[in-house]
Amino acid sequence: MATSSEILKKYWGFNSFRPLQEEIINAVLENKNTIALLPTGGGKSLCFQVPALVKEGICIVISPLIALMEDQVNNLKEKGIKAMTIPSGTSQDEMITLFDNLRFGNYKFLYVSPERLQSKFIQDKISQLNVSLIAIDEAHCISEWGHDFRPSYLQTHILKEIHPNATFIALTATATPKVLHNIATILAFNNPNVFQKSFKRENLAYQIYFTEDKLYKLNRIFTKTKEPAIVYVNTRNKTKEISAYLNANGFKTEFYHGGLSPIEKKMAFDNWMSEKTPIIVATNAFGMGIDKANVKVVVHFNLPNSVENYVQEAGRGGRNGNKAFSVVLTNNADILSTKEIQQKSLPSLEEIKQIHLKLYQHFQIAKGELIEDNFDFNLLAFCNKYNFIPNKTFNALQILHNNGVIQFNNNPKQKSTILFLVNSNRIIQYAKSHPKKKEFITTLLRLYGGVFEQAVKIDEFFLGKKAGITSWTVIEYLEKLEEDTIIEYSKSSNNSELYFLHPREDDKTINRISKNIKSYLKQKHAKTEELIQFIKNDTTCRSIQVLNYFGESKSSICGICDVCLQQKSKIKNVTKEITQLIQQHKELSSKEIAEQLPFKEADILINLRNLLSEEKIGLNNYNKYFLL
Ligand code: ADP
Ligand code: MG
Repeated sequence: MATSSEILKKYWGFNSFRPLQEEIINAVLENKNTIALLPTGGGKSLCFQVPALVKEGICIVISPLIALMEDQVNNLKEKGIKAMTIPSGTSQDEMITLFDNLRFGNYKFLYVSPERLQSKFIQDKISQLNVSLIAIDEAHCISEWGHDFRPSYLQTHILKEIHPNATFIALTATATPKVLHNIATILAFNNPNVFQKSFKRENLAYQIYFTEDKLYKLNRIFTKTKEPAIVYVNTRNKTKEISAYLNANGFKTEFYHGGLSPIEKKMAFDNWMSEKTPIIVATNAFGMGIDKANVKVVVHFNLPNSVENYVQEAGRGGRNGNKAFSVVLTNNADILSTKEIQQKSLPSLEEIKQIHLKLYQHFQIAKGELIEDNFDFNLLAFCNKYNFIPNKTFNALQILHNNGVIQFNNNPKQKSTILFLVNSNRIIQYAKSHPKKKEFITTLLRLYGGVFEQAVKIDEFFLGKKAGITSWTVIEYLEKLEEDTIIEYSKSSNNSELYFLHPREDDKTINRISKNIKSYLKQKHAKTEELIQFIKNDTTCRSIQVLNYFGESKSSICGICDVCLQQKSKIKNVTKEITQLIQQHKELSSKEIAEQLPFKEADILINLRNLLSEEKIGLNNYNKYFLL
């Protein structure tokens, strides 16, 4: 049997474990139910992947996002490790084959969404597998006190009934004591082994600035530092506007949001990673899979959704250990509008009912009918048709998804395709008469030219790299080729995929989950309130506030947040006034000083003591201080 270090080296090529990884892995290998709390990017995946490879049998991984699962499965496959997910829309027949493969094909990992796990059929199939380890990733989703509650996560405990002897590991980056307690209770862990890396980030300075002119402040920040940065804003439009503003001011930026096509996202991401454009202006859709060590500043141009989100987003700064800044730009109007915006973007129960009803009507599904097919769904078109607000509608769909009513896959990785409409001779001729595009067309033919009778999937990004041009130019050229009827070009679409998981029952469906929805909405409001409390509290060190929030009570002040800096400058001020006063009067007792200065006597005494020890003042026989 290989040891975990050997596996780490063999498959990942890493020489050593990160803090706590080894301890967690060892606990899992000793078959102890374990809860691992490591910050984002701390390397949680390895904590179940490595022991799964040491053990015999299959590891089942529960994970909330399809894109996340696909990403991990692809990563494992690249390492030659057998892993799969159950693709959406798999029929029952296909499912049987899939599980046969799992059972007899030496598979090590099966990734399942919590919604999928509710299917009796899948439960039954899982019970036939030789399961050694069950990993609940993003385990805070299990708790309604988490910032991302997913009711279907509650069902994960069913795995415990199916495989009572398997070891469980729950992993998350953000857990308050309440959430942690919830996780342990719901998964029925008796005496779980909890491994928690402190949330303390010594090199990260949390700085909250109240300012009426955020753009000016932003400008100042980036004038001071040229190092990589992220600017979080709260709408898609703002990503574009602020990116344009910064570009106009001589900075190099890109923008990123969930509405971009996969290829646009990849381009923005790549340009930022390679620091061609060191600043990225993004909505909080920019997050998953970011693994950049040298981010110097994370700016929140608008208030984040919760303390959890704030800490996670801010925590993308300074991974390399160098000093980094998390800057929140805000003002009083902002705080008010944050509440208002939340009100506007969170659907009420009634609105969810409406949206749910229209969804079935939109696809012309009759009452009682269930169509087990994947629908191509364009959110904006849907909203236009029924006069819904997109943001709110998106959240409603997300709520329906989280409650297992629909499956809403917002991130389908559809590729663009092209179909050649003429033969290669004709294309070469065309290339000759368009010398600017010649190189590109040659590349296109070389890469995809073999197939002429059917559409082929292409990758604009890859094409651009091969042809030495930007992906934007690739798109421009392809559009021109289409115009000239050389090819048919269908760009990867932003559409989402949508599945209905229940027959149409209208309000009945929603009534069944109304309790969940209500508590979810309540929770969302409470999270905003907590965040606002944090922003407004300018008397307690920010780091201490953050740590308290996550249940760490013993901690010293950070000395680098806005609150600490403010306090330091106050002390400096006291010192200055004391020395000035002594200078004026030649000699003074501490009592006399306290009478004349508007500071607390205790503060004055501390200062006097400091000044004495720094030998800036002396004390004579009459207990009076004088300047040295
Ligand atoms: P998390 O789930 O905690 O956010 P991931 O498991 O996605 O983090 O890991 C984040 C990154 O850290 C990945 O790129 C991973 O390869 C890397 N990583 C994890 N463990 C190690 C290690 N021991 N040595 C070097 N890199 C590691
Ligand atoms: Mg993870």
